[in-house]
Amino acid sequence: MTNDFRGSFTQQEPIPEEAIERAVAVMRSGRLHRYNIVNGEASETALLEAEYAQYMGAKYCLACASGGYAMHVALKSAGLKPGEPVLTNAFTLSPVPGAIDNAGGNPVLVEVTEELVIDIDDLERKIAEYGSTMLLLSHMRGHVVDMDALSLVLDRHGVRLIEDCAHTMGASWNGRKSGSFGLAACFSMQTYKHINSGEGGFITSDDAELMARAIIHSGSYMLYERHGAAPEPELLKTIRFETPNYSGRMDNLRAAILRPQLALLDEQCERWNARYRAVEDALRGTNGLTVPTRPAKERFVGSSIQFLVEGLDLPDIPNFIARCADRGVEIKWFGAAEPVGYTSRHDSWHYLEPQSLPRTDRILAKLCDMRIPLTFSLEDCRQVGTIIRDVFEKFDG
Ligand SMILES: *Cc1c(COP(=O)(O)O)cnc(C)c1O
Repeated sequence: MTNDFRGSFTQQEPIPEEAIERAVAVMRSGRLHRYNIVNGEASETALLEAEYAQYMGAKYCLACASGGYAMHVALKSAGLKPGEPVLTNAFTLSPVPGAIDNAGGNPVLVEVTEELVIDIDDLERKIAEYGSTMLLLSHMRGHVVDMDALSLVLDRHGVRLIEDCAHTMGASWNGRKSGSFGLAACFSMQTYKHINSGEGGFITSDDAELMARAIIHSGSYMLYERHGAAPEPELLKTIRFETPNYSGRMDNLRAAILRPQLALLDEQCERWNARYRAVEDALRGTNGLTVPTRPAKERFVGSSIQFLVEGLDLPDIPNFIARCADRGVEIKWFGAAEPVGYTSRHDSWHYLEPQSLPRTDRILAKLCDMRIPLTFSLEDCRQVGTIIRDVFEKFDG
């Protein structure tokens, strides 16, 4: 029998030394606010925006306070009107419907498939039913839908796309970066995402007008010429007095921590995927337990893994999770009646109109979720996968 696991599922890697040195330099300068510069220097925040725009191949980038803030401001900047229906997949995290609500929209939830991506047929039905022209697509837990098929449907109905890439920073579909398919994309740099400044967000876009509004919304105090990847100042001048300040800027300390991490991002994604494959290999072929298949066109980032425990009866799932926990393996379950940590479910968002999502409910009832921190070695990942399989196969209620 495999030994019990002793690692921590919430322990991230330390911030790289180079990032710490830069952060210390910012603190020594005292210039932590993004617009506090001397002699026309580019701030760490402006440099980060330029570097992330380049990484994404996007024309524009705004760094801001959080991923949730980025989604709120992206929706407002796309011209969302009060009460307008906004489509989003029902399998997502609470900041997504929260951002729609914050932007004055009305979240309309769309079913997900067994592959944990948006159900395109249900999407098409709901576009017709609600007359919505906006989709905030959450690439939840890094599962990327067939973006070619999705784009066809969205184009056919004139629906605009904003991507929530909180779990797909560094991922791509058919060689094209996740976050480059819509009008805008939003990212999170919160500690449990792919680069870590505690909190932080990006909006990227090729749309000059959207980005101009987003910059003014973020609280630019008319200092928008100090941005790193912004549209022409003339454009910002035309909209600055009609665009409210929703104060949510990035600061130089966090930007300084992020820049060296961005340089390492692709390498880190490879390390995550090697770990994901190690867990997946240990789980593959377990009767009654399935890991969603990942399409060949999807280059994902395996910072977490999901599996469906189809072979277990619902009342037994908490016991299965408890047995895994006894052996040191921390699994979350989307079927619990009440949200726990980061596993909220649509029926716990009571501020929404209740919505019927039988397919999603059936899937979430059997869905298990596990973080894969980079502090795990490949051997750790094999051990964790083997323990899950062991517990599952010996499980007798
Ligand atoms: C983390 C997360 C966000 C944004 O989160 P913040 O904590 O506001 O940075 C958005 N969508 C998903 C799916 C997330 O997991």
